[in-house]
Order: sequence, then structure tokens, then C-alpha cells
Amino acid sequence: GRKFVVGGNWKMNGDKNQVTDIVETLKKGPLDPYVEVVVGVPAIYLSYVKSIIPDSIGVAAQNCWKVPKGAFTGEISPAMIKDVGANWVILGHSERRTIFGEKDELVAEKVAHALEQGLKVIACIGETLEEREGGKTEEVVFRQTKALVPAIGNNWANVVIAYEPVWAIGTGKTASPQQAQDVHASLRNWLSTNVSPDVANSVRIQYGGSVTAANAKELAACPDIDGFLVGGASLKPEFVSIVNATQ
Ligand code: 13P
Repeated sequence: GRKFVVGGNWKMNGDKNQVTDIVETLKKGPLDPYVEVVVGVPAIYLSYVKSIIPDSIGVAAQNCWKVPKGAFTGEISPAMIKDVGANWVILGHSERRTIFGEKDELVAEKVAHALEQGLKVIACIGETLEEREGGKTEEVVFRQTKALVPAIGNNWANVVIAYEPVWAIGTGKTASPQQAQDVHASLRNWLSTNVSPDVANSVRIQYGGSVTAANAKELAACPDIDGFLVGGASLKPEFVSIVNATQ
């Protein structure tokens, strides 16, 4: 079976005190030991969080650049993320795509380099409201995933896909369990045809978009939902209940 994996994407939130409180809450838990937990931390706090968090909880950067070092003012590299002890990076988040203009090709280059450097990757995909209403959901998520296939190569074991419909992010408008399950299932079907049945069967697909303690259990019960990527609620104590949603 696929191990349930729950990520908390803190985005650009928190200060040293709040970050400390969140880690204390996670340490208190109790967190289901059968669930993999990863926190996505602002770059400037990666080192600090790594110094106070138990090794059982993964630490992710929220972005990185596509080469190891050089004249790229303001960027951080996978080598630097690893150097401070973090093992994951979130790439292709819809906020990176829409606010910072990252295209499929750039996201793929970042994914390739991060994997090459030994990071694990949460690769985000998802359609906008306009695309969903235009009946283009599958077309969009297949296109976004297709761009990643050559970048991932035979490294699928180090990749988690996060399906995050843009219209559900930060809006309080969660996809229904059926809506999410449908996209996850067709994505798995696409992977089976276009990558391999083995990858389709083993890759974990998280759902993200207004996940809360109140809706997590119902979503977690869907057969093709293998975890969550949580924004707002990952800053709150209810994140513990979301991690434990399969119990
Ligand atoms: P919210 O949970 O705040 O909707 O954010 C989801 C998200 O973007 C996680 O990456």
C-alpha cells in the first residue's frame, strides 16, 4: 500500500515564535506513526526548524532554483536545502505558477535538478476555476504531469504529486471527495498508460485546497487520495487531526 503522506505548507507565514509553537504542537501530537509528515517552511527558517523538529518529521523548502550555485540573487539551491538538513522541496505550487509566472518547463527543470541533488519532491498540479468550468481539468493536469515525466525519469519513488485545484486553495471551497477522487483516479490512469502501471500504482497523490480537520476524514477515505497538502490549517493545532485522518 501507499503510505499516507501529509504536508503542511506554511507559505509565507509565521515568525520565530509561531514556528516554535507549531513544532511544539507537532511534538505533542500524538501523530499517527503510520503517516509520513512533512512541513514546508519559509527558507529563512529551514535551519531553525530543522534544529528543533524531531527527525521523524520531514522538512521541505517551498521552492528552489534549478542549478547548484551561482549568480542568481535571491534564490536557494537544493544543495543548500540539503546542507541545512532538509530533505524535501515543494515545486510548482500554484502560487509559484500564477504569481511568479513559473511555467511547466521551468517547474520540470527544477524538479529534475532537485531529484538529481537527492531531494524528495512534492510536485504540485491543478486547474483554475475557469479551466474546470471549461471542462479542461483533465487536459490541464495531464499537461502539467506530462511535463514532469522526463524530469522525473526513474526517480518516481522520490516524488509525491499534490493535486491542488486552484479554486480550492485558500478559498474555504474544498473539492468534494468525489471531485478529488475523480481527478486522482484519472491521473493514476494517465500515469499507467504514459509512464507505467507500477508507477501509477505506487506514486502517492495528495489532495490540497482548504483541507481542514472537518473535511479530512471523508477525503482520506477515497481510494486514490494518499494524503494532503495543507496550507492555512497547517498553522493551527488542527493539523494534528488532519495527519490522523485515516485513524
Ligand atoms: P489552503 O489549505 O490554505 O487552501 O492551501 C492549500 C495549499 O495551497 C497547500 O499547498
